[in-house]
Amino acid sequence: MRIPFLSFAPQHDPLREEILAAMAAVYDKQWYILGDEVRAFEASYAHYNQVSYCVGVANGLDALHLALKALQVGPGDEVIVPSNTYIATWLAVSFVGATPVPVEPDPFTYNLNPACLEAAITPRTKGIMPVHLYGQACAMGPIMAIAERHGLWVVEDNAQAQGAAWEGRLTGSFGAVNGTSFYPGKNLGALGDAGAVTTNSAELATRIQTLRNYGSQQKYYNEVIGHNSRLDELQAAVLRVKLTYLPIWTQQRQEVARLYDQHLAGLGDLILPTVAAGANHVYHLYVVRTQFRDALQQHLTKYGIGTLIHYPVPPHKQQAYAHMHLSAYPIADELAATSLSLPLWPGMQPEHVSEVASIVSSFFANR
Ligand SMILES: *Cc1c(COP(=O)(O)O)cnc(C)c1O
Repeated sequence: MRIPFLSFAPQHDPLREEILAAMAAVYDKQWYILGDEVRAFEASYAHYNQVSYCVGVANGLDALHLALKALQVGPGDEVIVPSNTYIATWLAVSFVGATPVPVEPDPFTYNLNPACLEAAITPRTKGIMPVHLYGQACAMGPIMAIAERHGLWVVEDNAQAQGAAWEGRLTGSFGAVNGTSFYPGKNLGALGDAGAVTTNSAELATRIQTLRNYGSQQKYYNEVIGHNSRLDELQAAVLRVKLTYLPIWTQQRQEVARLYDQHLAGLGDLILPTVAAGANHVYHLYVVRTQFRDALQQHLTKYGIGTLIHYPVPPHKQQAYAHMHLSAYPIADELAATSLSLPLWPGMQPEHVSEVASIVSSFFANR
């Protein structure tokens, strides 16, 4: 049995008619930028995420970038970021001319470690960007308490964690302003690039609406030097349909993860995902770790099982950040060397999970 890393079929096949009808409605309405679909999706997503405002933008990176711009972060400012995130979190900080200051993750949850935060705070620190990595909520209680104590804002990177929660409160609702991505493979994915900012601040929401649309609220009157980073009507129409299914898809992801947990327990040195008390996990990815990662990946490839590495090179080792001459981040390095993401998608069948698990088992049985 060949098993891809990701299949959209169980999500998209049953919705074909519904989504094509939503797209056809946009086609016929002949209004393609910032119209009813974007407004309606923003209202639905704000409601879903339990925040007052959602502003649709072109992608997740822009969501984070515009969030920082709205907070007036700039040169000379430091922003705390995880050492083991996708590079987008760091790039957003670099775009506004501020300095990303990496902090090592908790070695079990892979999320920002509140115990390491305070050591990274300097008089230049302006804020903290927790990333709910792989779909698990960060320890937002302790992180918010530290931020408050030091007068810092928080911007959550919620790109991988739509629907995750810390002590019952949804991620993307804690920070002053937060970014998320609707890249197709994300838990809520468009049929192309898309993203959004979520906030409870009317002022910040208005600033981001202005920034995403050429710095303008009134057509041809430009208040600030803005961007063109709008969510398309077409993508908003698709996202409105898909959002209604997100809770079911989240349950299906969690069920796949539960089956993996059962099947993979106690194999060699294999480390399974750890979910912290207080956090829930929406399994954007199911990431396991082993010292034999490369050999395990080759073994799975040989038997037709798709896997990916999230991420093979941490940001501090990227050429893009060579100029910063950053020091060592051994936990991030260790995670990059040992992590492997197994196939997981909503609607993945139990037979698929047991097939993947049996091939992982056979790898460890023969060592
Ligand atoms: C996907 C992702 C982003 C960026 O989203 P895009 O829509 O691809 O720009 C940012 N941060 C994290 C953690 C991501 O996984």
